Amino acid sequence: MNVYDPLLLDLGRRYWLPVYKPRELILDEGKGARVWDTQGRDYVDFGAGIAVNALGHQDPDLLQALTGQARKLWHSSNVFYTEPPLRLAEELVQASGFAERVFLCNSGAEANEAAIKLVRKWAASQGRPPERRTIITFAGSFHGRTLATVTATAQPKYQEGYEPLPAGFRYLAFNDAEALEKAFAEGGIAAVMLEPVQGEGGVLPAAPGFLQRVRQLCDAHDALLVLDEIQCGMGRTGSLFAHAHDQVRPDIVTLAKALGCGFPIGAMLAGPKVADVMQYGSHGTTFGGNPMAAAVARVALAKLASPAVLSNVARQAGALRAGLDQINQELKLFAEVRGRGLMIGAVLDEPYKGRAAAILDHAAARGLLLLQAGPDVLRFVPPLTISDDELAAGLDRLRMALSDFVAA
Ligand SMILES: *Cc1c(COP(=O)(O)O)cnc(C)c1O
Repeated sequence: MNVYDPLLLDLGRRYWLPVYKPRELILDEGKGARVWDTQGRDYVDFGAGIAVNALGHQDPDLLQALTGQARKLWHSSNVFYTEPPLRLAEELVQASGFAERVFLCNSGAEANEAAIKLVRKWAASQGRPPERRTIITFAGSFHGRTLATVTATAQPKYQEGYEPLPAGFRYLAFNDAEALEKAFAEGGIAAVMLEPVQGEGGVLPAAPGFLQRVRQLCDAHDALLVLDEIQCGMGRTGSLFAHAHDQVRPDIVTLAKALGCGFPIGAMLAGPKVADVMQYGSHGTTFGGNPMAAAVARVALAKLASPAVLSNVARQAGALRAGLDQINQELKLFAEVRGRGLMIGAVLDEPYKGRAAAILDHAAARGLLLLQAGPDVLRFVPPLTISDDELAAGLDRLRMALSDFVAA
């Protein structure tokens, strides 16, 4: 059956730690919002490498930044300065409107790990004992796979078997302001950490007013507000930072995914309360702020913050939602379509619950790269630069894939 080189596919099965179950195809090349496999079949990319390739594939400016730096200097570590991470830090601070300092790292988990450590160090610097340094996170969240970030991730399926987990986390229901008030009243809370739009948990935005309430409670109880914008940041929701919609001022924001548009890089942005808590020797990384990653991220940041890209997000988000509504009128598969900007989740209706993975197989067969967010939600996170034609082609293929699924 398989038209792909079976020997090549076999390497994954034999030699990879089997923590993933990739679709049985081998991607080879990309351009814009299209990708080709080794058989020359083309796909419309509605997944963008999990909300990473925000400028699509082979953006000429990113390519120039990467190859330009590659010809100069690849790595220096953080015991010597290079120019790209210095410039990037200033540009991130200026773009953020709240941050004073930046810690550069290589991934989302590392950015959140740094944020968790910064919260703890801040609480310690105030003389709070370890048992009063609790971080609240919310059901359905996703904050990474390291031991601390998977503990922050309030979803049992990611934690099971990794006990003992680090102490000092407490989980509440997302968007439940009353539960949060109660937890604060009990005391010992050092920070609240959340995604303004939950990604892996099902593409679920914070309820209107929730972030503002969290901010008020944090202020009233001298706790920090940590926003994980690793997936929803970098223009994905239609503004550079997702929390701009909620009009709150965070103390810490973490970024990764689209920050490097495919080149690995993460960042933790620290506001005035916490910017000077970490001192020489407090934390570190060998690769973080690598000049190649930083050179790419500078261009990514400038482009993703541009009116051209952000207005395309609004335009294509409207088109995508209209297309999904139309498909749903025909096929009646979705209970709800939700999200913000080009971060959209189609929640499968009762009879189709748990079937997202099967739909993704049909999508791939019809030439569409699609993601799920849990077993019940189809996740749409295309490049923010996707064109009218690419989006329309993707919707056509989605309609065919969903028809196949219903008929199967
Ligand atoms: C992807 C993701 C992470 C983890 O990032 P990695 O680069 O995979 O470590 C953390 N938080 C959110 C919201 C994410 O979407």
